[in-house]
Amino acid sequence: MEFRDLKAQYKAIKNDMDAGIAEVINSAKFISGPQVKELEKQLANYVGTKHCVTCANGTDAITLALMTWDVGPGDAVFVPDFTFFSSGECPAFEGATPVFVDVDPRTYNMDPEKLESAVIKVKSEGKYIPKVVIAVDLFGLPADYEAIQDICKKYDLLLLEDAAQGFGGSIRGKVACSFGDISTTSFFPAKPLGCYGDGGAIFTDNDEWAAHLRSICVHGKSGNDKYNNIRLGMNSRLDTLQAAVLLAKLKAFKEYELADVNQVAAWYTKGLKECGLTLPYVPDGFISSWAQYTVQLPETVNRASVQEELKSQDIPTMIYYIKPMHQQGAFENTDSANADCPVTEKLCATVLSLPMHPYLTKEDVSEVVGKLQNAICK
Ligand SMILES: *Cc1c(COP(=O)(O)O)cnc(C)c1O
Repeated sequence: MEFRDLKAQYKAIKNDMDAGIAEVINSAKFISGPQVKELEKQLANYVGTKHCVTCANGTDAITLALMTWDVGPGDAVFVPDFTFFSSGECPAFEGATPVFVDVDPRTYNMDPEKLESAVIKVKSEGKYIPKVVIAVDLFGLPADYEAIQDICKKYDLLLLEDAAQGFGGSIRGKVACSFGDISTTSFFPAKPLGCYGDGGAIFTDNDEWAAHLRSICVHGKSGNDKYNNIRLGMNSRLDTLQAAVLLAKLKAFKEYELADVNQVAAWYTKGLKECGLTLPYVPDGFISSWAQYTVQLPETVNRASVQEELKSQDIPTMIYYIKPMHQQGAFENTDSANADCPVTEKLCATVLSLPMHPYLTKEDVSEVVGKLQNAICK
């Protein structure tokens, strides 16, 4: 069994995919071809923002947003402790100080109450100036934006939604990638909407920021003039080939993949109900795009043996994430290492992600459920 079955996906959309890729190769417009503009239009339309600027990957997307806001030394950037490294790496790379905030034990997303306490603490200590909150839509579930947006308003903070895993999720009909002042996503192949390599996108309603982002994606160009460079930027573009791949995949994502992956999640949740596991929680009014289906094993169970046992029976599993952000070596001996995050520490010790994608059948899910039950009871 595949953890995320990109081969099955290709089989299902092969005609559209092959035609789209061939068109790019025939046109030979490999950089900034018309497919890139078309994709940006369709993505902005799906997400419901005024602008979409594509770029080279989800990490660049975060960096470009922080550059646009001139985030740097002396700034505090609040980041959940339970996330992929980029969420904290990017602000630190800009010279800012990531302040890691513990997560909610049910949603695994940034805990708004702990966010507010952290902001108050940083303000009172006076060493750093609170500037940005990076909220992450972990495993496909949007963060608690209703509460987080209130805190950002109250303390005058900018909100960056890191929706690298969140594309397709929503809260009461409002779609992920639209919750931040700027929002970002990743098209890494295993994400809910992935391409055939690296890719990313940035979303905002703000005209000035969008223009700035378009400039710094291409060496700080002025307007459309690539050889008139009015600021320092990067080379961070989405290849035309990847845009063509994404146009084919976005169609499938909208037509059935998002619905199907939610069906798969429902099968898992029904099948695993009585296993003594802690299952994913989706609050009322929220929809997840299920980047991962992640359970918590009882603390008495040896996770490594369960993984080993499942692997021997052709069931791949993953641990997202094994280490809290504040314990990553890159932050050793920095102020970012001082974080009090017991919920994240417990999650890192107990989580296990199961095979998850829209092409799993009911029988596949039953097989995983049965084998996981056996492995736990051993
Ligand atoms: C994958 C991921 C990123 C980075 O995306 P890349 O395209 O791999 O650079 C950032 N944040 C989170 C939460 C992610 O899961």
